[in-house]
Formats: sequence, structure tokens, C-alpha cells
Amino acid sequence: ASRFRRAISATRESLSEKLDSVFQGRKQIDAELLDELEEALIAADIGVPTTLEILDRVRRGIARQQINDLAALKEAIKRELLEILRAAERNGVASETSVPDDIRPYVMMIVGVNGVGKTTTIGKLAHRIKAEGNDVLICAADTFRAAATDQLAIWAERTGVPLIQQRQGTDPAAVLFDALKAAKARGTDVLIVDTAGRLHTKSNLMAELEKMRRVAGREVEGAPHETLLVIDAVTGQNGLEQARQFLKTAGVTGIVLTKLDGTAKGGIAVAIAKELKLPIRYAGIGEKIDDLVVFDPEQYVNDLFE
Ligand code: GDP
Repeated sequence: ASRFRRAISATRESLSEKLDSVFQGRKQIDAELLDELEEALIAADIGVPTTLEILDRVRRGIARQQINDLAALKEAIKRELLEILRAAERNGVASETSVPDDIRPYVMMIVGVNGVGKTTTIGKLAHRIKAEGNDVLICAADTFRAAATDQLAIWAERTGVPLIQQRQGTDPAAVLFDALKAAKARGTDVLIVDTAGRLHTKSNLMAELEKMRRVAGREVEGAPHETLLVIDAVTGQNGLEQARQFLKTAGVTGIVLTKLDGTAKGGIAVAIAKELKLPIRYAGIGEKIDDLVVFDPEQYVNDLFE
């Protein structure tokens, strides 16, 4: 818990400590304070529309005299943020991250733009899911970048999880087909599938992902069972824009928010929940193997404001 708290300390400083200093010496909430609050929320990358909506509600609370002091104001903001994060959790799939007993292999596709921390996340995820008692297999289906498979192989070795790979340039759907076959033959519990993230080139990544989804679904009923989109918290609102491109075609069911430890803009979690309407499953809080935590909205909001 405290590791997560430490990871989001820069965001906490930019948000609640700023609010505290603004409030110092004031007896009541005035327009200037609300302006500062608005600034702090936007600076934390909560997003302009979300911030304006929150302030609207806060102003109504003040008008009704339900919010009279800083403590009440903070509580109101916490409540609003938590509500947004929880609404996203309720949207679509359930919020548990555990692997259901009756689905084998449970197929997880990991998608996202190059550089966001996809490979690292797969390594951490494999480690975590294995530690929970599952047999894990990784499929290296980013056959576009030569280095991608090498990096993944290092993580596979580090975590002691086998990797299915093929030559660079092989059809990713063919590598996936192999991996699905291997997973079924070995009785693998969870297959984690890496995918390409070359959004900037015009070669059709989305068509490739769609084809992979079809292959998965043909080989294993209901697969992929989870498609996690990896977003880099440091890229903030730009990451959101990239994300939208994946949402249209990649069948995303949840988000992994990486590098939350490296930014004062950790409020992006709220913007993601609000604008993409997808639950944040995991947060990356460092580069090491166990620096991936289950994202808990309540803990996040509490840690931001305590
Ligand atoms: P990919 O291109 O999306 O596969 O990205 P990589 O997994 O290679 O990660 C890119 C860089 O981000 C590497 O230097 C990682 O160590 C780093 N990285 C990944 N996740 C995190 C995280 O949660 N926190 C921090 N601080 N760095 C991370």
C-alpha cells in the first residue's frame, strides 16, 4: 500500500498539497480558491471536461451549504473522483483480476503503442499470475520489431515462464495460433499475448489485431478473454488520444496504467475512467518485476488526498 502511495507522491504534491497551501489562512471557500482548485485538477491531468463537471457539483454543494470548509471540500472531490473510477469498473467486465477456474487457457491480449511499457508489463504480469499459482505461457506476437522478442525473452527467462516465438516478420496470427495450440497441449492456465504497437506507421495494425482476435476466438471459446490496453501515465492526455484508436477495433476490456511513479499527472487515471469508460486493472509503479499493483480506486483517491 505504501509503495503505491510513494509512487503517486508527485501527483499528490501537485494536487492536495497545493490545495492545502491555497486554503491556508482562509476562513471560507471563495471564488479564488475554486479557481485554484480547478487549476490543480487540470494540472494533475484529470482533464478539462471532468474537472469542470466536478467543479459544477462542488459549486452546487457550496450553494446548498453542504460544503463549508476545506475538509468538506476535499471529501467532496474525493467522492467525485471515486464515483468516476467506480462507474468505469462497473462498465462492462467485472473488476476482479483473478483468472476464472472454468476457462483454459485464459487468453490475455496486451495492446498499446510502442514505448508505453508493454513488454515490461507483460513480464510483471506473467510473474504475478504465476505467483498466484497458474501455469503461464507468453506469446511473442510483435514480430515487427526485432528487439521486441529479445526483450520479451529476457522477461520470460527472468520470470521462468516459457515463450512461444518465431522469426521476425512471421504473421503474428500464425505465432498466436502456435501459442494457442501449445497452451492447449500443455494445459496452460493463462496465455499472455504480446502484440505490435507501431501506431505511427500506416501498415494496418488494427487489421492485424482483429485477425489475431479471430484466430484466438476460433481456437479457444470466448478468447481473448481479456484485452488490456497499456497507457503511459507520463504521456497524459496524448496517451488518451492514442487509446481511442485501439478502442475502436481492439476490443479493449481494461487498462494498465504504467509509469505512475514517474509523473505529477497521475490524475490521468480519472480522465481514462471518465473518457474511455474502462476500468484500470493494474498500475505500473516502477521498472522492477514486482512493480505492478492491482489498481484500487479507493486507495488511489485516499493516497492522493492524505
Ligand atoms: P514497450 O515498447 O511498450 O514494450 O516498452 P518497454 O516495456 O520496453 O518499456 C519502456 C521503458 O519504460 C523501459 O525503460 C521500462 O523500464 C520503463 N517502464 C515500464 N513500465 C514502467 C513503470 O511502471 N514505471 C517506470 N518508472 N518505468 C517503466
